[in-house]
Amino acid sequence: MELIDNACASFEKVFGTPASACGVAPGRVEVLGNHTDYNEGFILSAAIDRHVIICGRKVEGKTATVHATAYGVSESFEIDGLMKQDANFWINYIEGVVEQLVKMGFNIGGFEAVIDGNVPLGSGLSSSAALEVATLLFLKELYPFEMDMIKVATTAQAAENQFVGVNCGILDQFSSAMGKKDHLIFLDCRDLSGYDHVPIGSDCELVIANTKASHSLADGTYNRLRESCFAAAKYFNGVLDKTVTHLRDVIFEEFEKNVDGLDSADMPRAKHVVTENERVLTGVAALKSGDLKTMGECMQSSHYSSRDDFGNSCKELDIMVECAQGIDGLYGCRLSGGGFGGCTVNLVAADKAESFSKELATRYQDKTGLVPEMHICKAADGAFGKSF
Ligand code: ADP
Ligand code: MG
Repeated sequence: MELIDNACASFEKVFGTPASACGVAPGRVEVLGNHTDYNEGFILSAAIDRHVIICGRKVEGKTATVHATAYGVSESFEIDGLMKQDANFWINYIEGVVEQLVKMGFNIGGFEAVIDGNVPLGSGLSSSAALEVATLLFLKELYPFEMDMIKVATTAQAAENQFVGVNCGILDQFSSAMGKKDHLIFLDCRDLSGYDHVPIGSDCELVIANTKASHSLADGTYNRLRESCFAAAKYFNGVLDKTVTHLRDVIFEEFEKNVDGLDSADMPRAKHVVTENERVLTGVAALKSGDLKTMGECMQSSHYSSRDDFGNSCKELDIMVECAQGIDGLYGCRLSGGGFGGCTVNLVAADKAESFSKELATRYQDKTGLVPEMHICKAADGAFGKSF
């Protein structure tokens, strides 16, 4: 992999000795299943062919020194004295992973490393999860311990939740760790062992379009949406003849029959989650039978459900989705991720991906004056570590 060679060359340049190991982890995109994770529902995602690489070597003692090529700066920390840092914030993702490993009783010693790669930073393609997963697998090469890839994902997530302080769900790290070339990842968020790889074939690509809009989501909004979902689950637990801990437990028929007693603000949000879970299952079944048209329709209605019911779209995301309509090669598109800005994901025939991407960018720029950032991606294998 050329990226690994480049990262190793940077390491040698910065630290003056060759690297002995690396961790490599892909970014990810959510293809279906919007805000279903914390409702213990279903998700379809993909690891993408953009990677974070961390390479380096062991050193004596308990000091870690890491150089980030993206920023052209180095930062260090003591493994026995982990502290959150403000200046070079990116070091916290490394420290967070070290903290989890130390807590688990693994003996992690000093190291020198370079972070490199081509996942765009802060674009919603989860460079943060890729950095955590890559770091974990790099350290596993240097200071070997046993850990399966699902545990790698949950440990990386814990690093982001607890040390970095971002309350992300499991989607990001799981997708980075568990990707498979030419496949989407189906995940049952209630039971992480209930995952599956669903083929999309090599004749499909994922065109990711960053709107370049970000409406400060304010955690307040995000939390209100979550609270609405939990309140609706509580309501259904009271009226249905079964235990409902999360909206995952409600099917659309039950939703419709009992909708009248539901709080009017919670109602559309719950409707989105209930229908979105069903769209993920429909999409998986369609993909398994090679029916990309139905899969595309599921993506399309997912967007309208986020826009009209859940309420987490925005003007720019809606324009990006509308601009894509009618461009040759498109199966379906939707907003991807938290919402209120960020990216849309477009499922496109591989031989049309290039022309599709150009046309979409032109249309969007004409309409908004904003220059979108386009990424034509393939579904890729998950993360790995390697010693040289
Ligand atoms: P996203 O995960 O969507 O890319 P986040 O804001 O969650 O956005 O994470 C981006 C942050 O992760 C960056 O600001 C930086 O601190 C860290 N990061 C990710 N990739 C790298 C990298 N290659 N080098 C240094 N820091 C990185
Ligand atoms: Mg992130």
